Amino acid sequence: MCGIVGYNGKNSAIDVLLSGLKNLEYRGYDSAGIALIDKDINIIKSVGKIKNLEDKLDIDSLKKYNIGIAHTRWATHGEVNEENAHPHRVGKITLVHNGIIENADILRKELEEKDYKFNSNTDTEVIAALLDYNLEDDFLNTINKTLEQLKGSYALGIINENEKDKLYAVKKDSPLVIGLREDEVYFASDICAINMYTNEFIFLQEKDIAVITNDDDEVDVEVYNGNMREERYIDVIETDELTKSKNGYSHYMLKEINEQPIVLEKTLNKYLDDLDLIPDISDYEVIHIVACGSAMYAGMVAKYLFEEKAKKQVIVEVASEYRYRSINYDRKTLVILISQSGETADTIAAMRYAKEHGATTLAVVNVKTSTIAREADYKLFIEAGEEIAVATTKAYLLQVALLSLIALKLAHDKNLIEDINKYIEEFRLIPKLVKEVIDKEEVYKEIAQEIYERENSFFIGRKIDYAYCLEGSLKLKEVSYIHSEAYQAGELKHGTISLINQGMPVFGILTEKDIYEKTLSNVKEVASRGAKTIIITTNELKTDNDLEVVVPATSIFTQGLLVVPTLQLIAYYTALLRDCDIDKPKNLAKSVTVE
Ligand code: GLU
Repeated sequence: MCGIVGYNGKNSAIDVLLSGLKNLEYRGYDSAGIALIDKDINIIKSVGKIKNLEDKLDIDSLKKYNIGIAHTRWATHGEVNEENAHPHRVGKITLVHNGIIENADILRKELEEKDYKFNSNTDTEVIAALLDYNLEDDFLNTINKTLEQLKGSYALGIINENEKDKLYAVKKDSPLVIGLREDEVYFASDICAINMYTNEFIFLQEKDIAVITNDDDEVDVEVYNGNMREERYIDVIETDELTKSKNGYSHYMLKEINEQPIVLEKTLNKYLDDLDLIPDISDYEVIHIVACGSAMYAGMVAKYLFEEKAKKQVIVEVASEYRYRSINYDRKTLVILISQSGETADTIAAMRYAKEHGATTLAVVNVKTSTIAREADYKLFIEAGEEIAVATTKAYLLQVALLSLIALKLAHDKNLIEDINKYIEEFRLIPKLVKEVIDKEEVYKEIAQEIYERENSFFIGRKIDYAYCLEGSLKLKEVSYIHSEAYQAGELKHGTISLINQGMPVFGILTEKDIYEKTLSNVKEVASRGAKTIIITTNELKTDNDLEVVVPATSIFTQGLLVVPTLQLIAYYTALLRDCDIDKPKNLAKSVTVE
């Protein structure tokens, strides 16, 4: 995944590159680096976050450069160290890369036979060497020839030392956007890196090559595909001023948890005011929900809602598996894709696969300019604003909210709901109730205090409560590094219960009235084997457990919106006590743009 950014203009490049990298850091932070060029080329790299790179730079002495490329890495090939950090330079070529080259090992061997020596273990350095090997006067030809030899995904920012006034930007299966302004051209993996300078963008298409030239008169960009000159559409996008401040919160995660009532209100009202914004999907015979990570767990919540309330069977599948399965598309199929960024590579691949096989696609996304938003047949947007903490909170909750509305609309379209207004009124109350739940911080701090010294935990629940368990468990392990697993409560005794030991935290989620007693029995079974049990339940089902979080009872459509924030806050306060890097947990990245 990672982020790349480039600048070619009449002003200094360094500030644009650094601030661009900071805005892209959510995409990976294993290492960072920049290359600046005028008569000479200056490459500076550092392991870890952008701050480490910044500390290494003598900014004043770098102001003279008007052309540069930069990278923040999420390692896929080669360990995290300075040699593997980008930019990579081979011969006349220096480049940054987002993506994975699948045939890198074969190409590396071939190039080694041609006497190329490699300084890193990355797939990226192979691209640089191949470009250098293929180098001819017409660099467009060089790039085209090289692209034919590469398998995999890439967004590339390239410097060719034979053409020191130019930058080249190329993409396939990884996002890349060009920003335009008088005397300046930018490119980046995400517009958030450059939208403070311009509102004019070109979203490059597959295998597009942008040639950005900075000559005496002007800075100009031309786009080619193969050797054909292309006139690409210039999108004018007004983006809100980015609010990067933590608003007094100690972490973005806490800020974003606290923003949930506001963004819920915004998202819910949009659809509740006009439910017809949600398409009628009652004709689809088969529904698949495809996503990754928390988005997939939002899909799991939806599965139970669709099945219970709209009498529609749903298959939920991890996006990275989906297109490798033998899926039968004989019946009219709707594939619902869920992605906060809309750039999740696995989900994009699954969407394209489904489309190729004739399925209709419906995307639930946050970023309106993203690849998934542009390519899906139907798109429904959550209004999360920008989410900066790597562990999702508000985007997940909005995905659940919107999927619940889709389930409600489907149930209504199928005449399975008598009084839809009753549910609409309930949804309208939810932001206020979520705020009340979030405000009970003392309860979550107390639970965190009880569990933070433990290394293992379980979350158990049945039916839709199991879907909440999946997200609660993921949140805890992501940010606090306490190993955690989610289990269907009835399944624990078929093996896993052997792991229960004295004091191990086991969270029991109990909101499903009809099987409440069964789950409670499972909680008691682990308590009698020494587990420290924590119950999350509703005011209708309260127990006498020592550690208990009680949320208002609502219908199944909205119950998760009250349960999951409690789990987010327990994870947050636990991570705080363990002194973890809460907003940027190790090895993770916000937007996973590699498969
Ligand atoms: N595959 C390249 C590497 O491991 C690029 C990864 C990225 O997109 O950050 O360095």
